[in-house]
Amino acid sequence: MAAYKNRIDLHMHTSSSFDGNFPASEMVEAAVNAPFATIAFTDHFDVDFYERHNLGTRQQTSYEDIMSVVDNDKIRILRGIEMGQPTYDVELTEKSLERYEYDFVIGSIHNLRNMPDFGDLDYKSMTEERIYELLDEYFNEMLLLAKWNGFDTLAHLTYPMRYIVQAGRKEIELSRFDGIVDEIFKTLIANGKALEINTSGLRQPIGKTMPTEDYVRRYKELGGEYLTLGSDAHFTQHVGANIDDGYAIAERCGFEYVTYFENRKPVKVKIEK
Ligand SMILES: [Zn+2]
Ligand SMILES: [Zn+2]
Repeated sequence: MAAYKNRIDLHMHTSSSFDGNFPASEMVEAAVNAPFATIAFTDHFDVDFYERHNLGTRQQTSYEDIMSVVDNDKIRILRGIEMGQPTYDVELTEKSLERYEYDFVIGSIHNLRNMPDFGDLDYKSMTEERIYELLDEYFNEMLLLAKWNGFDTLAHLTYPMRYIVQAGRKEIELSRFDGIVDEIFKTLIANGKALEINTSGLRQPIGKTMPTEDYVRRYKELGGEYLTLGSDAHFTQHVGANIDDGYAIAERCGFEYVTYFENRKPVKVKIEK
């Protein structure tokens, strides 16, 4: 029995993502059984890897796969996309978003400009100073992303920490970026955009949501209204994983609602057990 009613999971990948594994139909089956009331498919579109990931074709495959399952009377299925690094090529991003009718757009950053994914950097041999320098650039990019404002929710705010913690660099802590994080939150709030609680970290060595509860509380303090929840599942067995932990964080931080987006418009869902 699920602890919460009308649950949402707005972040998952099908085999149309370079790192996905299952067609939308199998992910839907897992979500219906969980059960979830609303899910969004959000295949990767890392704009700076357009050629390497063959995104022209992949985007079409992804959209067609989603369209093949949207008509379902057991669950609401939203047509989403995860735009990675959109600010690195705004023109291509905006043109690509116009190709199809999306309900929901996730904004995220997985790498700095002309750099590999944060998951592919070697933090074990990196100086502390260099790690902080990368994080500084990262949060500056997140602020630029927030200001661009072409998405609905800002994903996994503390993404690099997933890999920094995994590499054993436990001395790295993010408090020195609190000022810019406040600026990011204020930008989201002013623009009526959502913050994502990404629960994938709970099944990984970091052992925490991205961002952690402290950030969600701060977002609320600053006037944050819209919160999305996502498992970031790349496998059927991870659909909805730890979403209830995300709900519990939302509740503890004073949120009465979570939000999904339909036709790019926020729809609030009461948090209730
Ligand atoms: Zn992501
Ligand atoms: Zn993702």
